[in-house]
Amino acid sequence: MKSNTASLFQVLNEYRVKNIDHLQLKLEHIHNEIERLRDHAEVKHRVIGTSFLKQDLHCFTLGHGPIVITMWSQMHGDESSASAAVLDFINVLLSSKQASETKLHSSSVLFQNWEDKFTIHIAPMLNPDGAKFSKRYNAQGLDINRDALALQTPEGNVLNALIEETKPQYAFNLHDQDPYYRCGAQAKPVTIAFLAPAYNPQKELNHARQNAMTLIAEISKSLQEELNGQIAKYDDTFSERSFGDQIAAKGISTILIESGYFVADETRQVARSANLVALVRSLSILAEQSALFDDKGEYSEPRVYADLPLNIENKWCDLLIKNLHFKEQHYSADVAIRKPARYSNEWIIYDLGDLRDFAGEIEFDAEQYVYEAGQSFLVDDKLVLDEESYLTILRDGYTHFVGEASLINNVCGLPIVNNPKIWHDDFKLSRGTVAAGFLVRNGIREFAIINGRLLKLS
Ligand SMILES: [Zn+2]
Repeated sequence: MKSNTASLFQVLNEYRVKNIDHLQLKLEHIHNEIERLRDHAEVKHRVIGTSFLKQDLHCFTLGHGPIVITMWSQMHGDESSASAAVLDFINVLLSSKQASETKLHSSSVLFQNWEDKFTIHIAPMLNPDGAKFSKRYNAQGLDINRDALALQTPEGNVLNALIEETKPQYAFNLHDQDPYYRCGAQAKPVTIAFLAPAYNPQKELNHARQNAMTLIAEISKSLQEELNGQIAKYDDTFSERSFGDQIAAKGISTILIESGYFVADETRQVARSANLVALVRSLSILAEQSALFDDKGEYSEPRVYADLPLNIENKWCDLLIKNLHFKEQHYSADVAIRKPARYSNEWIIYDLGDLRDFAGEIEFDAEQYVYEAGQSFLVDDKLVLDEESYLTILRDGYTHFVGEASLINNVCGLPIVNNPKIWHDDFKLSRGTVAAGFLVRNGIREFAIINGRLLKLS
């Protein structure tokens, strides 16, 4: 089936739930939506357990068909892109039951009467305690996704019970990943990474895993254009302690989706939309192309899955400066600059040396430039930074402010560095230090490196 993917994104975006486009979703942010769905005649709502801190774990069930799908999001508390997407998904499903929603009934979006084919269980936030503190772990400090066998977390037990009780054919395990994954050999970040998890260390293929690969292959075709090809497959090394792998070992077709970075999209609304498209397309694909998932199928699609580029960790950065020379040109090195973690407000020197295996959002060839460390500018009086005064300070060799940051009024909107925690004061750079310095050519400071950007000074 052919579909216009751009219009699919556009059509579905109209059904997104309002006011949940936060970088970090917490239970309170989705409270209103939970309350609305709780009372909805087409939705069965249950509290399936409580977190370690006694917050409710919610599950919604829609439809009554024979194909059972169970999905959960945010078992890592700081990974909330898909929590918004599953609520959007519920909104699409419920909206499609209104006859007036002809946009959703076009064959390229969502078929009518999906509820006769599917029973869909959705747990939209499995780790509300982690969410509360913007942490990956639950309130015990345990990683719920490494608790599939030990079952020492209340949340892990709830997920385990949900799978046992609902006995899905398809399971969707929804996460976020760091922004610094590179999409195979391409100079692109990864916006969506998929995995059909292995169910044993030999990474064998059984019917259920091939089905998951086939579904991923079909979904990824629907996303390629809109995501600029920034789709990868996650490493499939068997992870015995993880839920996805253990659920796959029960013979359930398991699909892991990792939301990632898209240029200039800090709150991951592009990945959220991609999740929504992926979920809606999954229903269409499973309903309309059931032959693909037949026991006797030829499985041509796992080839498409196998051909997805690898999701390569820590090989993407915000700024990649190549061939930068150091003091008296005794040597040169590439410099990769990025945040240490997704939620940080600081940019650091992440790596140095021959970084030909890196790619960056901004790449600059500094073959003709020498590095110069910046000096500290002491703030002890009110300081208004308009563009001219700030650039003058930079041109004079200062890259960062120390002292009373509250005295600075930055009216120019350019990035500034205040009181860097880890600083270097010689001509070398070192990993982990704040990235701020100059690119100098013929004795003139032409660019300042500030917060993962290059500011032109001349
Ligand atoms: Zn995760």
